[in-house]
Amino acid sequence: MKKDTSKNIEQKRLTPAMEDYLEAIFNLDKEKRVVRVKDIAKALAVKMPTVTNMLKTLSKRKLIDYEKYEYIELTKKGNRIGKEINRRHHVLRSFLVDILKVDPKKADEEACEMEHAVSPSTLDRIVDFMEFLQFCPRTGSGWLENFDEYRKHGQDPEKCATMMKEFSNEFKCAIEIKKDEGGFDGAQRS
Ligand code: MN
Repeated sequence: MKKDTSKNIEQKRLTPAMEDYLEAIFNLDKEKRVVRVKDIAKALAVKMPTVTNMLKTLSKRKLIDYEKYEYIELTKKGNRIGKEINRRHHVLRSFLVDILKVDPKKADEEACEMEHAVSPSTLDRIVDFMEFLQFCPRTGSGWLENFDEYRKHGQDPEKCATMMKEFSNEFKCAIEIKKDEGGFDGAQRS
C-alpha cells in the first residue's frame, strides 16, 4: 500500500490537543492492558464523543490503530510522539518544581502547556542545566559561562570545586567592601 496520498495530512503539525491525547494514551497504555474511549475521557476530563472525534483524526494521521473500535493502540509513530511528550512533561515539571519551587499542582498544569511549545533540543538543554545546577552549584558572574563548556565536555568536579573556591573568595571580599560602605542590609532594595 502506498502512503503518498495521505502524506500531507500525516506531516501537518500536530495540535497541542492531539499531542495531549497521544501522551494520555501512552500513559494509559503503560498502566493497563487495553485502553478504551472511557479511559481517555476520564484521563483528560472530556466527554466520550469528544474523544471519539479526536480518535478519528488521530487514526487518519496514522498515529493510532482505531479500526477495532473496542480498544485503542498507538502506532509506532504515535507511540514515539506520546513518549516524547511524556518526557517533556516530566522534565518541565521537574524544572518547575525542583528548581523554581512552583507548587506541584500548578507545575503539572503548566508543564502540560509548555510541553507543546518547547523543542527537543531546548528540552535537552534544560535537562543539562538541571544537572549543571547539581554538579556545579555556584553563583557569581562567571558561573553561567561555564554551562556551555559543561554541555560540551561534561562534568569536571575539580574545575567546579576550583571555581567555587574562587567565587567564595570573591564573595567574601565583596561582603567586606559592602560592610565598609555601610552593609548589605536594605542597600539594594527600593
Ligand atoms: Mn499537554
